[in-house]
Amino acid sequence: MVRMLKNKADLKVILDEIEVLFPNAGCELIYHNIFELLIAVMLSAQTTDKSVNVVTPSLFEKYPNAFMLSNAEYEDVKEIIKRIGLSNVKAKNIIAASKMIVEVYDGNVPNTLEELIKLPGVGRKTANVVMSEGYKIPRIAVDTHVERVSKRLGIVPFSADVLDVEERLMDLIDQDKWHKSHHLLLFFGRYFCLAKKPNCENCFYKKSCHYLNDKNLQD
Ligand code: SF4
Repeated sequence: MVRMLKNKADLKVILDEIEVLFPNAGCELIYHNIFELLIAVMLSAQTTDKSVNVVTPSLFEKYPNAFMLSNAEYEDVKEIIKRIGLSNVKAKNIIAASKMIVEVYDGNVPNTLEELIKLPGVGRKTANVVMSEGYKIPRIAVDTHVERVSKRLGIVPFSADVLDVEERLMDLIDQDKWHKSHHLLLFFGRYFCLAKKPNCENCFYKKSCHYLNDKNLQD
């Protein structure tokens, strides 16, 4: 019987099952400070964390902080990050964001949503990751994986937008679990309930799955 999730208890059961699958779910980007985290998350748009981790050591060695990166040559940065997608626009954005961090925040990455989303190339998801992962401020970042599995699991309707997903998850999950839950849903989407080939046959949720049991919802 397919149904929408109605309460915290429903979601807790799901998250507990996912935690059995991925007990070590957590940030896969390699960083050593909040500036590096911000840049790594900006670079990770529409590419894998693994490929970001390949380019960031050289990038951070040459440009270890916002002051250095704000003065970098665009062509040089683009060359260093060229193996990841959208390197043109990402190079432009990380230099521009660094300039703003230097000029407005004296070289320190801001820690509020309002300030972070004003940085060039920083959207709500990136800001939420920086706050949650870097500053340990409770937030839930909704990326493509979190959005997809939230819909398939029936946490939100398929018509929900990312903000609806974020608000619904914050509503159903206790604040002290937001950080961990974000990683659990992300890992479930990234490694199990994949966009094109979800592992439905082996899924703990296959009898109740909103997506699997309603062919009309499948893309
Ligand atoms: S049954 Fe399939 S689509 Fe549904 S949550 Fe599990 S893996 Fe995803």
